[in-house]
Amino acid sequence: MRLRRIFTTSVLVLFSIITMVAQEMEMPAIPIDPAVRIGKLDNGLTYYIRHNDYPEHVANFYIAQRVGSIQEEDSQRGLAHFLEHMAFNGSEHFPGNGIIDFTRSLGVEFGSNLNAYTSIDQTVYRVCDVPTKRITAIDSCLLILKDWSNGLLLDPKEIDKERDVVHNEWRLGESPSQRILTRALPKMYPGSRYGERMPIGLMSVIDSFKPQTLRDYYHKWYRPDNQAVIIVGDVDVDHIEAEVKKLFGGITVAANAAKVVDVEVPDNPEAIYIIDKDKEMQMSQIMVMMKHDATKAEDKTNMMYLLEMYVKSVVSEMMNARLTEMTQEADCPFFQAMAEDGQYFYSKTKDAFTFIAIPKEGKEKEALAAVIREAKRMAEFGFTATEYERAKADYLSSLEKAYTNRDKRRNDEFGDEYRDHFLTNEPIPPLDKLYQTMNALVPQLPVELINQSLPELVTATDTNLVVMMLCQEVEGKQYLTEEELREVVNTTRGEQLQAYVDNVKDEPLMTEIPPKGKIMREKSNATLGFKELKLSNGATVILKKTDFKDDEIVLQAFSKGGKSLYGPADYNNLKVFNEVIGYSGIGNFSSNELSKVLAGKKCNADATLSVTRQNITAHSTPKDVETMMQMMYLYFTKINKDEKQIQNLMTSLGMALKNKYLQPEAVFSDSLDNTLYSHNPRFTSLQPEDLKTINYDRILAIAKDRFKNAGQFTFVIVGNFDEATIRPLIEQYIASLPADKKAKPDNCKDVTSFAKGKVKNHFKVKTDSPKAIAFEVWSADAPYTLDNVVKLDAIGQILSMIYLKTIREEESAAYSCGASGNFNLQGKKPKMILQAYCPMNPDKQEIAIRLLHEGMENASKNMDADIVNKVKEYMLKQADDDAKKNNHWLNVITTFKDRSIDLQTNYKKTVEALTPASLQDFLKNKLLSSGNHVEVVMLPESK
Ligand SMILES: [Zn+2]
Repeated sequence: MRLRRIFTTSVLVLFSIITMVAQEMEMPAIPIDPAVRIGKLDNGLTYYIRHNDYPEHVANFYIAQRVGSIQEEDSQRGLAHFLEHMAFNGSEHFPGNGIIDFTRSLGVEFGSNLNAYTSIDQTVYRVCDVPTKRITAIDSCLLILKDWSNGLLLDPKEIDKERDVVHNEWRLGESPSQRILTRALPKMYPGSRYGERMPIGLMSVIDSFKPQTLRDYYHKWYRPDNQAVIIVGDVDVDHIEAEVKKLFGGITVAANAAKVVDVEVPDNPEAIYIIDKDKEMQMSQIMVMMKHDATKAEDKTNMMYLLEMYVKSVVSEMMNARLTEMTQEADCPFFQAMAEDGQYFYSKTKDAFTFIAIPKEGKEKEALAAVIREAKRMAEFGFTATEYERAKADYLSSLEKAYTNRDKRRNDEFGDEYRDHFLTNEPIPPLDKLYQTMNALVPQLPVELINQSLPELVTATDTNLVVMMLCQEVEGKQYLTEEELREVVNTTRGEQLQAYVDNVKDEPLMTEIPPKGKIMREKSNATLGFKELKLSNGATVILKKTDFKDDEIVLQAFSKGGKSLYGPADYNNLKVFNEVIGYSGIGNFSSNELSKVLAGKKCNADATLSVTRQNITAHSTPKDVETMMQMMYLYFTKINKDEKQIQNLMTSLGMALKNKYLQPEAVFSDSLDNTLYSHNPRFTSLQPEDLKTINYDRILAIAKDRFKNAGQFTFVIVGNFDEATIRPLIEQYIASLPADKKAKPDNCKDVTSFAKGKVKNHFKVKTDSPKAIAFEVWSADAPYTLDNVVKLDAIGQILSMIYLKTIREEESAAYSCGASGNFNLQGKKPKMILQAYCPMNPDKQEIAIRLLHEGMENASKNMDADIVNKVKEYMLKQADDDAKKNNHWLNVITTFKDRSIDLQTNYKKTVEALTPASLQDFLKNKLLSSGNHVEVVMLPESK
């Protein structure tokens, strides 16, 4: 979008606004947050260092390279990404797996907190959540950044080992969209290198390149003048700056070093039509892209760019609201559609206003026409004042939310912002300045100004138009031709359109406020730090005030019962219960009217059933807490039947279910559930023919039944609420809820049918993507205690490390693999479940399955003390992190009230007490001794 030009047409309006605002602020340049120290060494290396002590005692370390797969020569396709893998396989100061081993000893987990990614024009490495109490840990992480920058060993033996790992990653990502994109890119980017640089590259290159070819890429592009190091966290900025200068200052850049040159994407004077199909596509997809130049890096430094971003965000929001509203009409030709302005697929030099639609079966032409029509309607008539009011209110409340929380921003957020500032010159203003500026500006930008920018976004001719139709391949099916698509576009362009009419319901969420109830008594729980209120209708409310986030309040209400209370006649109703209730309205509002009346509010509530409980989950900012309470009240008292929405839900579910098994992963997942739950129809997944038995009235009746007695519910509220404000709201909206004090306490039934003994299910599927997956589950009955929870979790993590080392690193039999330990609490007897998951290389499936078994057996005989210590370190650090999250406390308190177990107070003590002997004993005598072991393996059928 070229706002610069748009605004020249209305330059007077804008100019007056800007001068007005400018008198109070230093404009028009966007200020850079003074809290970050930015510097550049003589060799060109940029650094960003920021002290941030939320949370305390941890820091993040990044190195961002301004290069990616677009810099590859033809002989190097895939090597930018391969290089990223080699960064974890031996460097000057950390030979072998030294980086992974060292960071693990700090409690930093490979894959989550230690990771990297490669894209077309950037490669970014990170070590996150590093404990900063020891200065040596900080200095070692800087040394890791230094090694990444220019100290990789690229040992030929390690390279050979990694070829399979990358090949496995390619296989894991092998999917219809990957196949189609690989074919489509050269057509989307004719005459541009962008057409041939998917980062995963060519397997022919991966399998056979010479180590020198990889070194060539590394030394040519990984240089200080293409790099930035970013350190954010609880650190001494002066110390870090001195270390960065010492470590990186000596690196030199050759005088004739190659320059990173942006690759242009040429305009297309003729429309580009791409039609493709794939058997595993679950549903067809239409993309309409209207290309325009991306904002240049040098144009992102002044106020105009903030305005441009604002306009883009409200325009997409208003367009998306229209498209969503359309889906509620039965004759809408698409299930879903959305629009957004952003990168033209993945090129930073070209943007596009892009529509994506999922057409209903046989309605491909109509769906394409509908999208073109909405683009045209938007360009011709613009948006209405009421649509804009809502979009503006949403924007301002998001801004307000970010501002309220400005002192509690996490390191990742800063890290990502500084990365984008380095790579693409995105602004990094201090939040208070941004807040003041936008709050002053936005209310003065009229809808007319937004509307004037629209014709620039929409291509009215064939120039820069790209239409992509991706179809599900079905035997005997006729596909649309390029000619037909062209005709749809041309005919639609010639239509006479009417302006959009915005139907808004002009009434409050609740027209009648119920008579207040009362808080009867209260007591405190000193251990977990909460207050417990008993209300006049019998309900219990738990209040835990925190200051972890200034803008967050979370709520969970629950009572026992849930799906377990209903029998076979309702199984299908129960399987769609949560979606159906979510799609229904509340009060006098349909779900679409609801989204309009909630514009500008940051809150939500949902009513759901789990196997053993009925729940309301909700969240809000302190400002919108009353609206959240009202929504919750209405879920208890008045769910609004919305036939139209549910009809739509059923049509799209029907489509999704019909095509679900085209994906091997879905076949696997269903077989797994069937085996784990002994083919109990309560737990099997929904089939297309089941939809006929769904009864909306019955689902509403179940909802009514489950939420009729608020007196049996416990409401847990955690976060930054003001107690004086929330107490009257509790009396108003919770104590007033209908209740039956004479009813006997709700309970749930034991309906579990988890597999016992040894069960094996091996099967083959015939698909285009040859996939092999193994899943192992060991289970045992055991009391739900803190000790068992901690041990089970630790063992899952220990096995994950073992599997990663043996299956991925040593044998290259899988790209990913892992294990986890959790309790299943669906029945009377709690069950410990330890599961291992491995999407394998089909050629090495025997090795992978053998190692899954061996890892477990060996651990039960001889637990590696070093691994145990690393896992303990990680769990302790995680516990400190969790203790500062509202949702963690919501879960702790809910579990405490529902299951009478305190997962918080002695947690760290229990972790500290873990020993290799105690874990080994637990695994052998508590878990494996039960003899319950389920194995499900899917293999590809040779074609
Ligand atoms: Zn990778």
